[in-house]
Amino acid sequence: MTKLVLASGNPGKLREFGALLATFDFEVLPQSAFSVSEAEEPHLTFVENALAKARHASRLTGLPALADDSGLCVKALGGAPGVISARYAGEPRSDARNNEKLLADLADVIDRRAHFTCVLVLVRHADDPQPQIAEGEWHGVILRAPQGADGFGYDPLFFVPECGCSAAELAPDAKNRRSHRGQALMHLANQLAIRPKASPP
Ligand code: IMP
Repeated sequence: MTKLVLASGNPGKLREFGALLATFDFEVLPQSAFSVSEAEEPHLTFVENALAKARHASRLTGLPALADDSGLCVKALGGAPGVISARYAGEPRSDARNNEKLLADLADVIDRRAHFTCVLVLVRHADDPQPQIAEGEWHGVILRAPQGADGFGYDPLFFVPECGCSAAELAPDAKNRRSHRGQALMHLANQLAIRPKASPP
């Protein structure tokens, strides 16, 4: 399998996948290259939403498809915003308004532990009965004010204890090495028994 469609229209995710997948021997095309619309995400779990996105992109393109459903799960909020992370503050989707709402919801909260989750689903064709599924988690703490300008989504509020900074203050490759997305992709590569290409000397 060399040619894949990436079932996402999120520019932040596409940027990160571009770097992450460049180390593998795939030709990866974003679904926008085929004018594929965003799939509905009506489900309560990341895995169901990722599967729906992958099947949708594969059905419309005739190609194998890789989809990511991801989000931020905050302990004190019972795992919210979770699968609705992208539209936590409602439509139209806005990272700035989502971050403001998160800060307001956690205003009086002391225990600010949270993690990002990423579920990746790879289907070989739209009705694939055996999708490959891989998951990654990235644990941190929600800050009281945004820090940093890189990344996307909740990155400016996500403090990474082992780095002593927010996810938005990490260089892109440093984020990719640690993130839920990077970890999920490594698990998927292991399942498929594929290895990153060797880096040039
Ligand atoms: P999805 O497109 O439904 O999977 O929504 C993903 C949402 O989760 C994004 O729009 C962000 O709000 C949040 N999210 C997922 N991954 C990250 C990340 O790496 N950094 C910051 N926010 C993220």
